[in-house]
Amino acid sequence: MEQPDHSFRAALRRGVGGRCPRCGKGALFAGFLAVAPRCTHCDLDFSFADSADGPAFFVMAFSGFVVVAAALAVEALYQPPYWLHALLWVPLMLATTLLPLRPAKGLLIAVQFHYKAAEGQPARGDGP
Ligand SMILES: [Zn+2]
Repeated sequence: MEQPDHSFRAALRRGVGGRCPRCGKGALFAGFLAVAPRCTHCDLDFSFADSADGPAFFVMAFSGFVVVAAALAVEALYQPPYWLHALLWVPLMLATTLLPLRPAKGLLIAVQFHYKAAEGQPARGDGP
C-alpha cells in the first residue's frame, strides 16, 4: 500500500489544485471560494481553514502591479484614448484577480494545514 505524501510540496500542490490538503483526493471547495465543511474522501474537518483576507491581499498586490505597470507602459508609449484603456485593462484586471483567487486560497489553507497554524489560545497551566 502506498504511503500518503505528507511533504510541504504535496500540501501546496493539493491546495493549489483545490484538493484536500491531507489526502489530495476530496474537494476543498464547495463553491467558487466557499470551503467545504469536510473532506469527502478522508473526512478531514475543514473548520480549521481560515485564510481570511490573505488570498485577496496577495492577488490584489499581484494584479495591481501587473495592470498598473501595463497601463503606464501603454500610456507612455502610445497615448491611446481612455476607452481603449478601459477595453484593455478591465478584462486584464478581471483575469488577474478572479483566476488566481481560488488557487491562492487553497494554497494558504494548505500552508495552514501543513504547519498546523491556528488562532492563538490562552496558555494553560499555572500562568505567570
Ligand atoms: Zn481528504
